[in-house]
Amino acid sequence: MIYEKWFSEQEARIPKGEVRTRFAPSPTGYMHVGNLRTALYTWLIARHNKGKFILRIEDTDQERLVEGAVDVIYRTLTECGLDHDEGPDVGGPVGPYIQTERRGLYGKYAELLVEKGSAYRCFCEKCEADEDAGFEKAADPCRSMSKEESDRRAAAGEPHVIRQRIPEEGTTTFHDEIFGDITVENKTLDDQVLIKRDGLPTYNFANVIDDHLMGITHVVRGSEYLSSSPKYNLLYEAFGWPIPCYVHCSPVMRDAHNKMSKRHGDPSYEDLIAQGYLTDAVVNYVALLGWSPGGEREIYTMKELAEIFELKGLSKSPAIFDIEKLKFFNAEYIRAMSPEDFAKAAEPFIRQAVKNPDIDPAAIAALLQQRTEVLTDIPEKLDFFDTLPEYDTALFVHKKSKTDEAGSLEMLKAMLPVFEAIDDWCDENILTAMTDMAARCECKNAKVMWPVRIAAAGKAVTPGGAVEICRILGKNETLRRMNIAIEKLSAKA
Ligand code: GLU
Repeated sequence: MIYEKWFSEQEARIPKGEVRTRFAPSPTGYMHVGNLRTALYTWLIARHNKGKFILRIEDTDQERLVEGAVDVIYRTLTECGLDHDEGPDVGGPVGPYIQTERRGLYGKYAELLVEKGSAYRCFCEKCEADEDAGFEKAADPCRSMSKEESDRRAAAGEPHVIRQRIPEEGTTTFHDEIFGDITVENKTLDDQVLIKRDGLPTYNFANVIDDHLMGITHVVRGSEYLSSSPKYNLLYEAFGWPIPCYVHCSPVMRDAHNKMSKRHGDPSYEDLIAQGYLTDAVVNYVALLGWSPGGEREIYTMKELAEIFELKGLSKSPAIFDIEKLKFFNAEYIRAMSPEDFAKAAEPFIRQAVKNPDIDPAAIAALLQQRTEVLTDIPEKLDFFDTLPEYDTALFVHKKSKTDEAGSLEMLKAMLPVFEAIDDWCDENILTAMTDMAARCECKNAKVMWPVRIAAAGKAVTPGGAVEICRILGKNETLRRMNIAIEKLSAKA
């Protein structure tokens, strides 16, 4: 056998006796939600089983290479806490972990298959495009070419591809953890190209070789690869290698009929972060897209997920990505943050709206934490802090607080000197000033607070109530705004 010693050296390197999973992205420049989910499930299987999680970069499709794309992969995995035990940056026992750096080995395995009769060289012109479409195996003269002729033409340097020789008769069965046993007729499978004219392997060949040589026990990927799996099985069988456990995840859909897609504007992981979602919330939500731990509980840390993750919770049905549901997760995560962490995360969004250097963003953050779903919602809620909006005095009319314009005018006039007299402008003093006034007038607190809040904010819906808004605005600005309100209301009276 050719390269016999080399083959057995490769076999000897393969780690045994542990669960080994791999995430094998092609560097496309972004991480779509389905990809992130694949990475997550792959990582969870490894961590649940105290195994190894391996990162392999599948870059053999040179035409689709995108500058900086590998960095997106590293960044996403790191941010999401999906640490890998082996990979291009950390090395490992079965490297290199970048497919183009492994290019030397695929050809040898393809030659081995040619020798075994499970593959053949195809010299046809139509293979130029390396496409399988329209290829009919029975009609291909190269399929039945003698070994001697094939060897001679290859030795003479004639360009060719190497194709897998699929049996014409019979069926092939493979097992998938989610979809069960699937049997296909061999005549429906094409003699797919394994090695292209440029000598590089196709994805379909490289991933079988690499999964074997890296000792991968569980292959997790999108169900778009399900239909190719019988061909992978035939390759494993031709080599006499053990077949890994296949886990094909059903697609993540944008609605009942369409897969999520970048082309249709569906967000990638990075888009979601830019839109104000928290990584932990995204990861938690994505974990439940097509997998269920059973029961009602939905919020889990990564550590908890790793403890409970089992393949049997994976679903066959496509999962629909529901942004409203993600918002719910995000709000839960925001509420659970420490005030300090939230203030840090919210500050850039607060500063988009509030430029006044005298206002402390942390003070505003405290008002927002319990009622924010997505960080990008923050700026529009805060527009009134820097500039009092133009508003209609009709806002002073509020049924529940029993206020009208004339009553509000009186109340603001009465409150002005009381506020002026406060030395220490803190929540307690502001509140007492208003509740004392309500007691004196024998009315509800709301009858005082509503006019003050409208005067201070110039709008009816605000984060925080009169006390907090006045405190954050400061005494001078509050008084200035109350005077404006008094003027406006007087003009109407
Ligand atoms: N490189 C393939 C992709 O990004 C990986 C498929 C697999 O995991 O086998 O879709």
